[in-house]
Amino acid sequence: MFSNAVILEGEELEVTRGYLVISGGVVKKISEGSPPGKATNLKHGFILPPFINAHTHVVDSVGKELYLGKRQSKVVGPSGEKFKVLISRPIREIVAAAGATLQDMLHTGTLAHYDFREGGTAGIGLLKQISSTPMKSIALGRPTNFKEFPKVLETADGVGLPSLGAFDPDELIEIARQTRRAKKLLAVHVAETKSAQETSVKYSGWSEVQLAIELNSSFVVHATHATKQDFVLLKKKRVPVVFCPRANNLLSVGTPPIHIALLTGTRFCFGTDNAMVCQPNMFEELSFAWACLRSSTHSAGSNDARALLKAATVAPTTFFDLPWKPIAEGEKATFMILARRDNLLNISDVYAGLVNRARADNIRAIYVNGKVI
Ligand SMILES: [Zn+2]
Repeated sequence: MFSNAVILEGEELEVTRGYLVISGGVVKKISEGSPPGKATNLKHGFILPPFINAHTHVVDSVGKELYLGKRQSKVVGPSGEKFKVLISRPIREIVAAAGATLQDMLHTGTLAHYDFREGGTAGIGLLKQISSTPMKSIALGRPTNFKEFPKVLETADGVGLPSLGAFDPDELIEIARQTRRAKKLLAVHVAETKSAQETSVKYSGWSEVQLAIELNSSFVVHATHATKQDFVLLKKKRVPVVFCPRANNLLSVGTPPIHIALLTGTRFCFGTDNAMVCQPNMFEELSFAWACLRSSTHSAGSNDARALLKAATVAPTTFFDLPWKPIAEGEKATFMILARRDNLLNISDVYAGLVNRARADNIRAIYVNGKVI
């Protein structure tokens, strides 16, 4: 039992100042005030859901900082630096580097990630070899060619396409149809660069976002150069967007329009994209996203900060099938506890304070099904 806690409860992360009781691996009671018996005093520390990183490429951890001095297409485009390094390094080095990244994700409060896994079925096998519980790695495979697609679909949790131009239109339609029939996830990078957005409109008359929606994508990644009209459509079709603000900035492709997603009511979450570009640390992603939002609009306030925190924690549990739900009585006791010390003292707004200032060194414990990991 924990007392004197600030509990961020439910899908809306409503604040309850009081106590939380765990029994049999689930949250038995959440209440305001003081508990009836002995409890661990959190001294106004926070109990909040763990992070979900909705877009990673963890296996490229072996190529850290190889983006220096290069444009995005030369780093992650076809035959870019990323693929050169993945081909040239021994498997044991790749495995060790990605393993260290997954450990870092756990240490920084992330318990699930959606990984775009290149390299066909072998690539999916590699991620499965590296990842272990309690991390939930969702592998979205990339077939090296259309012939390999059925095997990739069979082994992976879904398909993660680098772009809509990676396959012929007929093949794309087939990939989308079969993925949907298999009840697996289909995701695609869209409008990451200005030229990707413009090229798509030029050739088909549709934007990349519109094409991705037509293909029944489960979610789209980036939308950095998507228009307001694209966001209105995403909202209408209930297709979530994964924003990757730090990776976009570090690859000099722009800043995602988080303010437009908020304005249009589009569902969104956050990802950290290529591990070769930045660490998959969701505390850092959140504070950077907050700075991006505030640079677009000075009116961004507590509710917007709450929306960002939701996007990094509970939002994906409402779009996808994950082993835990938002913190509530009767749900699994899966959450993290942040100590209120130093950087988190004297914050006047819980949401903006956490989004802007919380760090991994505030983590006091992470609980999965009522047990400390
Ligand atoms: Zn990506």
